[in-house]
Amino acid sequence: MLMKANQRILDAVANLTLPKDRTFGKAVLPIVCTARYENGAWSELELKFDADVQVSSGSPAVQYAQSIFEGMKAYWMDQEEPQIFRPHHHAARFKMSAERLCMPPVPEEMFVAAVKMITCLYKDIIPREVNSALYLRPSLYGDDYSLSIEPSDSYRFTVHAAPTIPFSLEMMSVLIERQHIRASLGGTGNVKAAGNYAAGFASLKRARALNCATSLWLDPLEGRFIEELSLMNFFIFMEGGLYTPMMQDSFLSGITRQSLIMLAYELGIRTVEKKIDINGLIARLLKGDNIEAFSTGTAAVVSPIRSLKEADGTEYVFGETPGSITQTLRKQLLDVQEGRAKDKFGWMETV
Ligand SMILES: *Cc1c(COP(=O)(O)O)cnc(C)c1O
Repeated sequence: MLMKANQRILDAVANLTLPKDRTFGKAVLPIVCTARYENGAWSELELKFDADVQVSSGSPAVQYAQSIFEGMKAYWMDQEEPQIFRPHHHAARFKMSAERLCMPPVPEEMFVAAVKMITCLYKDIIPREVNSALYLRPSLYGDDYSLSIEPSDSYRFTVHAAPTIPFSLEMMSVLIERQHIRASLGGTGNVKAAGNYAAGFASLKRARALNCATSLWLDPLEGRFIEELSLMNFFIFMEGGLYTPMMQDSFLSGITRQSLIMLAYELGIRTVEKKIDINGLIARLLKGDNIEAFSTGTAAVVSPIRSLKEADGTEYVFGETPGSITQTLRKQLLDVQEGRAKDKFGWMETV
């Protein structure tokens, strides 16, 4: 792939020392692939130091959260070249998010070219150990210098990269969030709008104080049906069937969720998308029913859930070790992503 990188950038990449801490999202690399939208047209993609990308503190992005993002991964394990998982699907969702926040969508081909360009730039430092990947973070935001409450005229598109390990490698506990709601019906919960995430930070803080990795969000109308985790979708396996909350527009349809449903189907595991009542699930756990729970997402891959917790510390435990269906599905997905299994669905794209 063609790259317009100047010597200063190539030198910087050659001299990079990789941060030791690969906790999800921490080790952000210094160069981004970027383009700007101005006077109704997109500029060419270019590589820049993040420090040279200027965003005004008086921009619609900062002032009114006119900002969206995507999250995806490039893998280089058992394949001959680095590969990105479902970039065109991420491009399509990025377009949906842009339209919802009244921003000019990044053309799909340009989006895919940008994630490929940054992956090529960092090719030699893609972590190649099991469970590692290069996390890619496309984002788009209004960057006018204007305080008027209306959409920006100009926009900045950037793709950051960060070598990373999954969100959680251990069994996680999750806080049942009964105080706040994440997003309403007809709101922006079904797109990756930046503001959704800030709105969840207070809940995350309460979750962490209870030794929980994240929060489990309930539906905005009755506070009764499980929707998703803050960056992941939710699944349970019980009585021979796999269940995941039926989509509605208050939460996000993960590409990992969609992929996992396809893999489960291939394996002959029946998947049902339905409303899952939190109190019904708790009643089953108290009765001692055998239930596996896990979360899915680009960051999480497939992460087993140990328990659900109430704000008062009451805990309902699924199990102390990952369930067998959780492990099977996790392995199946990682085998495709890391190049050990045949990519039947054509999900992996070489850069
Ligand atoms: C990104 C995200 C997910 C997971 O989506 P993937 O496409 O599987 O990475 C789930 N919920 C929310 C709120 C998200 O932002």
